[in-house]
Amino acid sequence: MKTFRFTLIASIMTLTLFTLCGCQQEAPQVETSTEDIPWVVDRFDDIKVLRYEVPGFENLPLQQKLLVYYLAEAAKCGRDILFDQNFKYNLTVRRALEDIYSKYEGDRKAAEFVALEKYLKKVWFANGIHHHYSNDKFHPEFPREWFEPLVGKYAKERLTIDEKLLCDIIFDETLYASRLNQTDGVDMVTESACNYYEGVTMAEVEKFYADMVDPNDPKPISYGLNSKLIKDEKGNIVEKVWKLGGMYSEAIEQIIFWLEKASSVAEGSQKSIIDALVNYYRTGDLREFDRYNILWVGDNTSNIDFVNGFIEDYGDPLGRKASWEGIVNFIDSTACRRTQIITENAQWFEDNAPINPAFRKKEVKGVSAKVITVAMLGGDCYPATPIGINLPNADWIRKEYGSKSVTIDNITYAYDKAAQGNGFNEEFMLREEDRERIKQYGKLADDLHTDLHECLGHGSGQLAPGVKGGELKSYTSTLEETRADLFGLYYLGDEKMVEIGLIPSTDVAKAQYADYIMNGMMTQFSRIELGKNVEESHMRNRKLIAEWCYEKGKKDNVIEWVKQDGKSYIVVNDFDALRRLFGELLFEVQRIKSTGDYEAGRKLVEDYAVKIDPEIHKEVLERYGKLGIEPYSGFVNPDYELVEQDGKVVDVKFVGKYNFIEQMMEYSTKYSFLPSIN
Ligand code: ZN
Repeated sequence: MKTFRFTLIASIMTLTLFTLCGCQQEAPQVETSTEDIPWVVDRFDDIKVLRYEVPGFENLPLQQKLLVYYLAEAAKCGRDILFDQNFKYNLTVRRALEDIYSKYEGDRKAAEFVALEKYLKKVWFANGIHHHYSNDKFHPEFPREWFEPLVGKYAKERLTIDEKLLCDIIFDETLYASRLNQTDGVDMVTESACNYYEGVTMAEVEKFYADMVDPNDPKPISYGLNSKLIKDEKGNIVEKVWKLGGMYSEAIEQIIFWLEKASSVAEGSQKSIIDALVNYYRTGDLREFDRYNILWVGDNTSNIDFVNGFIEDYGDPLGRKASWEGIVNFIDSTACRRTQIITENAQWFEDNAPINPAFRKKEVKGVSAKVITVAMLGGDCYPATPIGINLPNADWIRKEYGSKSVTIDNITYAYDKAAQGNGFNEEFMLREEDRERIKQYGKLADDLHTDLHECLGHGSGQLAPGVKGGELKSYTSTLEETRADLFGLYYLGDEKMVEIGLIPSTDVAKAQYADYIMNGMMTQFSRIELGKNVEESHMRNRKLIAEWCYEKGKKDNVIEWVKQDGKSYIVVNDFDALRRLFGELLFEVQRIKSTGDYEAGRKLVEDYAVKIDPEIHKEVLERYGKLGIEPYSGFVNPDYELVEQDGKVVDVKFVGKYNFIEQMMEYSTKYSFLPSIN
């Protein structure tokens, strides 16, 4: 379910981090005119900010361009909501910092001011004073004594709280230390700084909602999704609902304004979807939100699509309250054609899989996943961005009406571009020819591998009679990911792929194989602390496959460790033999699954997937650390402008924006509708 994120970019090939069913697609055509603009537009602390392109926007018909434009405006209007949801004083802090930042008359190159700029950038990026990923409060690198007088001088006008309190919030490390505290045994509600609850305890919250829920309702309402829970003056626990006329009304009013504009240019069924959403924003009625979701998930034909609302609950320690987000996109038709080709050939792939024929599916259906191009990111999708969306979240709607799963191609394309030239492949990949192939085919190979993994791999094969599934217990997900990955790896190097026009040559597979083995046996360890084991199932499966093939191919030197200038490298000497090994392992892993052979499965995982050689681990961490690659990324948005002629809109123009500070200041001026305290 949910949006899936991609925060740690190690190499272009780590895009296989996907954990959900969605397929990655072909790189979009990029206009040459923007090629020389750097993909990384800003870097600070552990963050880099990238830009993204919106290929295909120009070719949309005017009606669709206008729809994008209006929905994009709506996506920008809820930014303040998210700041406030993340922490009740976030808007106060942000505004004070922005006032100081813009009015400051001192030396803007002085260390303190530079540190203030860095802190403000971090606050912008995280939509608040807590790290977007770790949830820990930022520690400013400028002194309080320097900062405090600046508040009185530059930020007094908009400040609605005591100056001392403002400084305590920023500088006192113990105050509001974590946005989200989910430590077992603590009162997660009172110990978390997020703004979903106030004056209530965890026990009170749990009781409040337990009393509301009807356990027999087949269509359970997502109670609490769109409100803050507080105690009123009389001590009663009440919800402050986020709706027109309720909490966040000023921003919601603007969102509605643009959604109604969008509705005025939308066609047929999409119009009713937007109208249902508007009605939900007006009433706050969660049944109406369900109705909107059902309409939305049923729409598979509109070229333009969007998400706008209170969607994901990661920010609430109790997983009930949803943060506001907005995203606007359209279908990437070239890329979608590819998953279609794969699913059309699904039966051929199944019939030719290197597994025991008894475990092949007689009739196989591929899952066709959609690929989209994002046109605007807002709220909790900005600047840190998901690479795919899988919604809605309500389980009963998913069961009854299905869900939409899409991957966002222009975002992964930008990640890929930004990763080129970060020195990673030069550091870890020994052979020039491997690096060249990755440059040329890296993204295509990675996309196709993911396509095969997601669209066919997971769905292939069948259980032997009497086997129910679940026999592999805690090894299930690692072995399942192993199976799907092997399916993808094996077929990526198949001539069939050339025949059906998905790859120009099997060199594409070589690019993937070299990288996969390197990642599985080395570079993925850069994300694991020294001394720790591999725990995450995708990481385990990569290690399992790489180590198994290394060992089985040892006598023929299929894969080899090479030492050069004191550094270790892992290289593939024989790609054909490696592909055969993938096939052999797939045969065995399929047998393990189909027969529920727990002992064999356990042994495979424990022998190959878990323990890291401490020497290699240490070396990888050192070499990776020296590259100085920021672990987190986000994006600046482009902009869109209406082109008018004789008082009539004749076109909508894409305008590239490449400055993080400018964009943040602009949003804080143009799209800031809420009071500092809500
Ligand atoms: Zn998978």
